[in-house]
Amino acid sequence: MRQKHEVVSYLTQTEIGPWGDYLEQVDRVAPFLGSLSRWIETLKRPKRILVVDVPIERDDGTIAHFEGYRVQHNTSRGPGKGGVRFHQDVTLSEVMALSAWMTVKNAAVNVPYGGAKGGIRVDPRTLSQGELQRVTRRYTSEINIIIGPNKDIPAPDVNTNERIMAWMMDTYSMNQGSTATGVVTGKPISLGGSLGRHEATGRGVFVVGCEAAARRGIDIRGARVAVQGFGNVGGVAARLFAEAGARIVAIQDHAGTLMRESGIDVNELEWHVAEHGSVAGYRNAEFITDRDQFWETACDILIPAALEQQITKDNAGVIRAKIILEGANGPTTPAADDILHDKGVLVVPDVIANAGGVTVSYFEWVQDFSSFFWSEDEINQRLTRIMQEAFRSVSKIAEERGVSLRTAAFIVACTRVLQARELRGLYP
Ligand code: GLU
Repeated sequence: MRQKHEVVSYLTQTEIGPWGDYLEQVDRVAPFLGSLSRWIETLKRPKRILVVDVPIERDDGTIAHFEGYRVQHNTSRGPGKGGVRFHQDVTLSEVMALSAWMTVKNAAVNVPYGGAKGGIRVDPRTLSQGELQRVTRRYTSEINIIIGPNKDIPAPDVNTNERIMAWMMDTYSMNQGSTATGVVTGKPISLGGSLGRHEATGRGVFVVGCEAAARRGIDIRGARVAVQGFGNVGGVAARLFAEAGARIVAIQDHAGTLMRESGIDVNELEWHVAEHGSVAGYRNAEFITDRDQFWETACDILIPAALEQQITKDNAGVIRAKIILEGANGPTTPAADDILHDKGVLVVPDVIANAGGVTVSYFEWVQDFSSFFWSEDEINQRLTRIMQEAFRSVSKIAEERGVSLRTAAFIVACTRVLQARELRGLYP
């Protein structure tokens, strides 16, 4: 069988996964790029891929090996930038796609970075604190040769946090012989982190959610919101929507789904999850184990804020939301995008909706370089302005060209990336 996409030879078609979704998205934007489409292949090939072995000694004296990746998809507009994910299902295809989405996201909100992403195939829940630290430090040492404040700047992603960023910063700095705070973002405040960074992705989802709701004539007060994922993105977004008067009618995490028509108390649930590790066992809402039912929730706004490829051709048809805000990266497959478009659902794509995190990462990096730190108000105001402008300019293009918000965001972003590519020219 002929392959749909020519893929780099180290991925077989069966392993193409989310990278295939990304290639499809690039194919959809190509007709809108004019003469720049000459460079389109640049977007379909990651610039640099590093696969590393991460061995550690476990607490019981045995040796364990994990596979780690750092992919620098593009550096035409600046250093690589993007998070590091620890998850048992991490694959090279996934990290490639996530790195490419960072290229598009960074260009869509116009922060001066290329795109990169990293990951380790490990379930961090199976590691002790000491083992987690050893995995982090060994991985950082292995990718040390390609990261740096002016080369590639990691950050938190799924299952990584400010403590892990502190270990990464320390490991890089020890290898360099001097403290380099700007090598990672999402650090603790006392180590050069930024106020507002922890909440930034969720806050950005909320800001563009308000914009999208206004466009659809939906009042946030009383709007019904369903959220998949109750981590750093979904948890914060749920809280901000609830504070603005929305009703959080469903929340799903890895353990199951909570439903409550009159609205789930997000603060109370945060306490529960902090203590018990998941939404299971929370009493003030109905708990459902059938995961598929979540997608049928009667709601105005649906926020997938977990992993990629959640909304597919198999469940897109049952979705009843008017707006989808992609807090996760790559949650909607291209086939599902088409179904949602036909149903009139407004999909605010990941590369805009969840760009608040990397936007404040950019603020953090700038603050580290200047050793001058801003107030939380300043951060939140600048973040809000950037997110609103990005949403509005992408909406305008979507209307003018008659395309989805995703294709419009790709038009803006890919034009910026390929213009930089063309101006720089090929070396040698
Ligand atoms: N992991 C986040 C994302 O997917 C943030 C990346 C960053 O701050 O560099 O956008």
